[in-house]
Amino acid sequence: MEYFSREIGRLIGELSSLPGIGSKSAQRLAFHIMNMPKDDVKRLSDALVTARENVCYCRECQTLTDDEVCPICANPKRNHRMIMVVEDSRDMAAYEKTREYEGVYHVLHGAISPMQGIGPEDIKLAELMQRLQHEVDEVIIATNSSLEGETTAMYLSKLIKPTGIKTTRIASGVPVGGDLEYIDEVTLTRALEGRTEL
Ligand code: ZN
Repeated sequence: MEYFSREIGRLIGELSSLPGIGSKSAQRLAFHIMNMPKDDVKRLSDALVTARENVCYCRECQTLTDDEVCPICANPKRNHRMIMVVEDSRDMAAYEKTREYEGVYHVLHGAISPMQGIGPEDIKLAELMQRLQHEVDEVIIATNSSLEGETTAMYLSKLIKPTGIKTTRIASGVPVGGDLEYIDEVTLTRALEGRTEL
């Protein structure tokens, strides 16, 4: 990257570290930003910094929120004794779109992957076990049907079994390896209704 001046090179380097942004896209974005009015660039950078600074994990479900407790956990109309475990906040949003689920969630922020060196301690598992010490009727494991998602589901069910809490897994109508957020609402609703006890 020596053929770019230092500051442009640095910007390209930062941009290309983002997921889905290769070096070509990073260069295109960097030069686009260099041609933007300075005020627009300031607004963009303010949005980045403010969002990052104010967003935190929900004290209950660990989803990203800008309050101490997210709107779902704070809603007394939700069934707080039913917890659906998902890999990330986007999966949670996908289930919310179905409007069929009335329980609450737990967001793991990842899945166990021995291949990528991601162990149980790298995801929000301890926080889930902590929640299960309160009154809980059912834990619905809705991790993806990828190898990592299945590994996580298996690990979770073994961990929860001794507590005696009913543990279910969403039906395998969800395509293998499919990210939950790309699956339509009807399929998701069916997967939820067809869940089986582990
Ligand atoms: Zn929450």
